Amino acid sequence: MENEKDISSPLSCPALLEANAEKCVRCGQCMSVCPVFAQTGLESDSARGKMALVRHYRQAPGPEQAQRLEHALSRCLLCGACENACAAKAPTLASIVAHRAKGLEMLGPKTLLNLQVEALTSSGQGAKALRRTARFAQQLLEKSPEKSQGLFLRFPASWFTRRRVVPRLNERPFLESGAVKKMQAAGPGAVGYFAGCGANHLFGRSAEAFLAIAEKCHLKIFAPEEQVCCGMAAFACGDVEAARKSAAANIMLFADKGLCALVTTCATCGSFIKSWPGLFPEGHPLAKKAQRLADIHLDAADFLLNSPILSEITSGLKGFDPPIRIWHHTPCHQRFSKAATDGPRRLLAFIPGLIIVNSPEEVSCCGHGGSFNIKHYDISQRICADYAGRILKSSASILTAGCTGCMTGLLEGLAGEDGRPAMEVRHPLEVVMQALQ
Ligand code: SF4
Ligand code: SF4
Repeated sequence: MENEKDISSPLSCPALLEANAEKCVRCGQCMSVCPVFAQTGLESDSARGKMALVRHYRQAPGPEQAQRLEHALSRCLLCGACENACAAKAPTLASIVAHRAKGLEMLGPKTLLNLQVEALTSSGQGAKALRRTARFAQQLLEKSPEKSQGLFLRFPASWFTRRRVVPRLNERPFLESGAVKKMQAAGPGAVGYFAGCGANHLFGRSAEAFLAIAEKCHLKIFAPEEQVCCGMAAFACGDVEAARKSAAANIMLFADKGLCALVTTCATCGSFIKSWPGLFPEGHPLAKKAQRLADIHLDAADFLLNSPILSEITSGLKGFDPPIRIWHHTPCHQRFSKAATDGPRRLLAFIPGLIIVNSPEEVSCCGHGGSFNIKHYDISQRICADYAGRILKSSASILTAGCTGCMTGLLEGLAGEDGRPAMEVRHPLEVVMQALQ
């Protein structure tokens, strides 16, 4: 972080040392691409406004100012559109996260949100018990309209929206379901599979689809049950130490196993695995291992497209008759991050009888943004509603998205007033798997 060289600090990670709000030349280019600014019109919601507030804070720091800055910086999805559009290459995301981390350090103790993130993403026994309780509570407190992929609150409280739709929790966490037990083939040429919290707890079928395709093609898969959250959720909240701990636990599991690739089915996890090296200062024992894993990381679609088994997959595709029409959503983490790719769209294009009705340019941010959806639900919903409105006007009957965060957001955005889905929300690999059957 600017002028801070204390490498014992959690803020010492190289990714945050890049933060420099002075690099913003105030051109305003980022304002035309920011989904939050598009809804609110507030300068402080744009990257330019946030960089100005950071500079101001650095000139006149203090607890009150830190509180104000923390609130302004929380109004960001970390979608990366601003950084992508910035000709001056201002490190807006690093500046935002660095000051969220600084705020956490100054304003501690951890907020309820930080503790929620820890509880949801940790692998400790306490967190597991909490998640079991959540599953039980979901059965008790939520209902599912017929044919709905989502769940509604049975008794919506006045402070909570009636339209709140959440995905159903997996009956058992995917990683404890036994599906990965037979997938433990570490060794030269094996493929590492990182499931991520979204697949582990909510969209297990995205992970199942990848493992089913892998099994069909006789791939050696290494998917250790002990894997934990990639660390993105904690990092986005500014809890750099927790993010580092999660990343370190995963790196120890996957490094030095002779893997030819480390595959993800969630764009957010993929983008954070690419960022793992930025968490460890030079000379740290895990720095090189993190870099190696980032180098071999691939989204599952890219892995399949680049692998010798592609012809085996494409020749086995029976496709759809009658044809199906899908809207393919490319997550922000596959548009603007180090893990940017159009692999899922290219893979879907191989399927006979599958028509992608939208162009890449018609894709927008879904507005979910993880903790942003919890902290700023109203803005999150407005962003999603605009986009969902356009999707619903198209001729698509299925939406595909390769990110469990986007799948969660769009499941809600695409639900009607009665909670019934106007279209199905699926992972691209689920559709590929269906076309293979
Ligand atoms: S595009 Fe970059 S330089 Fe221009 S205002 Fe935004 S952050 Fe600043
Ligand atoms: S990361 Fe996205 S939401 Fe945040 S300021 Fe940049 S464009 Fe806006």
